[in-house]
Amino acid sequence: MHICCGPCLLYPAKDLRADGLDVVGYFYNPNIHPFTEFERRADALEQARSALGLDVLYNEAAYEPVHWLRAVGERTVQAQRCQICYRIRLEAAARKAAELNLPYYSTTLLYSKYQRHDLVRSIGEEIGESTGVKFFYKDFRAGWDEGVSMAIGLGIYRQPYCGCIYSEAERYHKRAVRLKDRFMSCNQTVKGVDKKSEPIS
Ligand code: SF4
Repeated sequence: MHICCGPCLLYPAKDLRADGLDVVGYFYNPNIHPFTEFERRADALEQARSALGLDVLYNEAAYEPVHWLRAVGERTVQAQRCQICYRIRLEAAARKAAELNLPYYSTTLLYSKYQRHDLVRSIGEEIGESTGVKFFYKDFRAGWDEGVSMAIGLGIYRQPYCGCIYSEAERYHKRAVRLKDRFMSCNQTVKGVDKKSEPIS
């Protein structure tokens, strides 16, 4: 199971095990910026993994934001960049599942109510068909409250933004607008600057 973060792992892992399925986790998220946040989420995953007693594999590349930035390029519009972001991570998870001869792969992204659930599902199923490892679909959002309670009970860090630098900027959009207004009004008060004069170079 592809793991996007520790808190999102808790409920799906519990639910799948209750259904009698064996779960192996796989952490690959080059979308997470900056490094300090990546490290913090890796630590949160370790807490979740330990509480669940779950086997987790990590992508050998560990932290590779350049790969993600190159793939997303100039697609700053959320719907477009998320599509690529899901694909990068789910392809890696499906490849890992194929390498391990596992019949299914899935993702904890299906748990988050902040993700584009239907898009995750359709990309997951498409990759499943092309790799020969079926995508296991379940709407884990049904356990959202339970998963949040589990994370709070364990004292696991719950991140305030999705992961990429764009989502971090979106989180602070209102504050950034207020800051811009402040800068503009400061500029207006600077004395001795003739705003109509031509540049001298
Ligand atoms: S908002 Fe989340 S899913 Fe979308 S591109 Fe950023 S990190 Fe990826």
